[in-house]
Amino acid sequence: NKRTRIKELLTSEPQGQTVTVMGWVRTFRNNQFVALNDGSTNANLQVVLELGRFDEELLKRITTSASLKVTGKVIESMGKGQKLEVKADEVEILGDSDSEKYPLQPKKHSLEFLREIAHLRFRTNTFGSVFRIRHSLAFAVHQFFNDKGFVYLHTPIITASDAEGAGEMFRVSTLPFDNPPRKEDGSIDFSEDFFGRATNLTVSGQLEGELGATAFGDIYTFGPTFRAENSNTARHLAEFWMIEPEMAFYDLEDNANLAEEFIQYIIRYIMDKHADDLEFLRQRLLEEEKQKPQNERSELDLIQKLKFVTENKFERITYTEAIDILLQSPAYKKKKFQYDVKWGIDMQSEHERYLVEKHFKKPVIVTNYPKEIKAFYMRQNDDGKTVAAMDILAPGIGEIVGGSQREERMDKLTKRMEEMHVPAEELWWYLDTRRYGTVPHAGFGLGFERMVQFVTGMGNIRDVIAFPRTPKNAEF
Ligand code: ATP
Ligand code: MG
Ligand code: MG
Ligand code: MG
Repeated sequence: NKRTRIKELLTSEPQGQTVTVMGWVRTFRNNQFVALNDGSTNANLQVVLELGRFDEELLKRITTSASLKVTGKVIESMGKGQKLEVKADEVEILGDSDSEKYPLQPKKHSLEFLREIAHLRFRTNTFGSVFRIRHSLAFAVHQFFNDKGFVYLHTPIITASDAEGAGEMFRVSTLPFDNPPRKEDGSIDFSEDFFGRATNLTVSGQLEGELGATAFGDIYTFGPTFRAENSNTARHLAEFWMIEPEMAFYDLEDNANLAEEFIQYIIRYIMDKHADDLEFLRQRLLEEEKQKPQNERSELDLIQKLKFVTENKFERITYTEAIDILLQSPAYKKKKFQYDVKWGIDMQSEHERYLVEKHFKKPVIVTNYPKEIKAFYMRQNDDGKTVAAMDILAPGIGEIVGGSQREERMDKLTKRMEEMHVPAEELWWYLDTRRYGTVPHAGFGLGFERMVQFVTGMGNIRDVIAFPRTPKNAEF
C-alpha cells in the first residue's frame, strides 16, 4: 500500500511521476475536481478526473468525506491556488460516506459546535494544524531534555500522596460498586480503596521526580496529571499533561533560566517545522480579531508574537513588585478587576494577564510568593514570609509554569509540613532525599496544554487536547 503523503508530494514536487495517494474527499466539483485531504497538511491535493473516463456509478460515490485511493500522474496545475495536481489513472473508493448526514459540511463551523463533535474535529483545518503542532511540541520537549542529558523518568499515575496539598484528587478505587465495605457509622470505608490502601490519581509527579533528581542529577517527567477541579475556565482541565523537570544543584535563578531557555527552544522548533500550520492559525486569528473593536485588537499577529518571545528576555519581578504594579494600575483604580488585590492573594488570571498583556507586554517570571499560598516543599526565604517560588505568566493565558527551589533543609521542611498538616509519616520516602545526602535542587511544572494554547493562539484549553475532560465531559 505504498502511498505518498500529500505534504511530501506538494513540497518535493515529483512532476511527471506516477504516485498513489489516499485520503478523504473535502469537496468534489463539476464531476471533475476532487479536493483530497490526508491529514498531513491543510493543503488539499487537487485530483483531476478526465471527463468521460470514469463511470457514473463511481462518480456518484465521490462525496464529502468518502475515502479514496488514487493513482495518477503528477502534473503542473493550470488552476489557481496550487502548483501541482494529480491526473487520475485509477480511482478506488475505500469507504463511502453519506454526505447528507456527515456533520462536517464544507463551511466554517464554530469551535463550540466542533466541541460537540470532538470525535470528528481533527478533520478540520483548524484542528489539523493544532494537533500537528501539539505532536511536534511533545517531540521538541523530549529533544530539548535529551540534548541536555536529562533522564526521562516515568512517575506513577496511581499514588497515595497529594503533592500539592490542595485536595483536588480523583480517588482510585477497587471497592465493589454494589457492596462496598462500611465503617461502623454506615459510611463507605475508603481506606480500603486500592486493595487495602487509599489511593488517588497523581496531581503532579514532582515528589517522585525529586527522588530521581537526587540520583541522576537532572530528570524530567512528562505525563498525564489529574485534578478534580470543578472549574469551567478556558485554562483548566481535569486531565492534562505536565512537563516536570527536576534538577539537583540548581537554585531559583538557574531554574528560571532553564524554563526560559526551554520555552524559547520549543517555540523556535515549531516555527522551523510548522510554518504552514502557523500561517494557517495566524490567518484564522486575524479573522477572529476583525470581530473585535479596533482598540482591543492586538498589535502583533501570532507569528510576530512567537518571534518576539523567542528573541527577548522574559521580564523578572518579585511577587511583591507584581502586587505593587497591580495596586498602581489604572485597572485597579477604575475597579476593573473582579477580584481584590492585596499582598497575600493568589493572583487570578485577570491579574496575571494584566501584568503580561498591558504592563510589560512580554512573558513575566514572578518570584518569591507568600508562603501561605504555596505548597509545603518550597524553599523558605530568610524574610520568614516568602518562599523561593516562581510562576511564568504568558499572554492570553496567565500562569503557564509553576516552580520553585525546593526546601532541602530537613528541619525547616519537617517544621513546615507540621504547620501545614502534611503527614510526615506517609512521606517518609520523600524525606529520605533529605536524610541521605541532601542537595539544593529545583524544578518546575509546565502545563502542556497551556503551552499548546500559547503557540497556536487557541483561546480555550478544550481545543488543544484531543479528548478534553472537564466536568461531566467524558463520552469521547
Ligand atoms: P492555576 O493557578 O491555573 O489553577 P496551579 O497554580 O493550580 O494553576 P500548579 O499546581 O502550579 O497549578 O501546576 C503547574 C502547572 O500545571 C500550571 O502552571 C499550569 O500550567 C498547569 N495546570 C495546573 N492545573 C491545570 C489544569 N487544571 N488544567 C491544565 N493545566 C493545569
Ligand atoms: Mg489550580
Ligand atoms: Mg496558580
Ligand atoms: Mg501554580
